Amino acid sequence: MNEFLIFDMDDTIFETKSIGEEPVKPILDKFEHLLIHRFGTELAKEIVAKLWKYPFDVIADTYKFDEYQNSEFARLVNENEYNLKVQPFEDFNLVKNLKQEKVLVTTGFSKLQNAKIQHLGLEKEFNKIYIDDILDPKRIFKKGIFKNILLDKNIKPEFVYIVGDNPHSELKAGFELGLNTIQVAKFGQKRSEYANYYISNFKELIPILAVK
Ligand SMILES: [Mg+2]
Repeated sequence: MNEFLIFDMDDTIFETKSIGEEPVKPILDKFEHLLIHRFGTELAKEIVAKLWKYPFDVIADTYKFDEYQNSEFARLVNENEYNLKVQPFEDFNLVKNLKQEKVLVTTGFSKLQNAKIQHLGLEKEFNKIYIDDILDPKRIFKKGIFKNILLDKNIKPEFVYIVGDNPHSELKAGFELGLNTIQVAKFGQKRSEYANYYISNFKELIPILAVK
């Protein structure tokens, strides 16, 4: 029972898309107005369409958003009130019953991520929750957070399991740090080269954790 589990949240514990458009639409509508000044009507519309599909930092990088655009977006995210109707995947109940120490490490905007955590009732399920805030100027990314956890807890990498869906985020970071990586493919995603294990249901965690 020495295993230490680090979970991702979006598309690992619940389906991110299930939030729906309504709670975040006011942010993107206002942001589109702001983008028009720099990019014009057509391109602003195109950028906002991409913001619906891809993470903010990826789009900010592609279109070279400046400090003003980044900080205004953060302001809109922080001012918005989130009334979310979200639920964990059904098999998350199995995770609740695992006896191992569990922490949550999630990337996004703090206020929105906190709203998800609260509406999903996750505070009581994890020993600690870390948010990798996209707009934090001192951002250390998930990899930095994982490293700090290893140091703080003084645990050997072989006992740490990263459970998540994103090959470019937690799975890559965990793999590079020599941690065990478990890819959760709820939607039939293809297996990542950074995944030591590949599951679609949390019941598959039990035999994996029973190995050691
Ligand atoms: Mg995810």
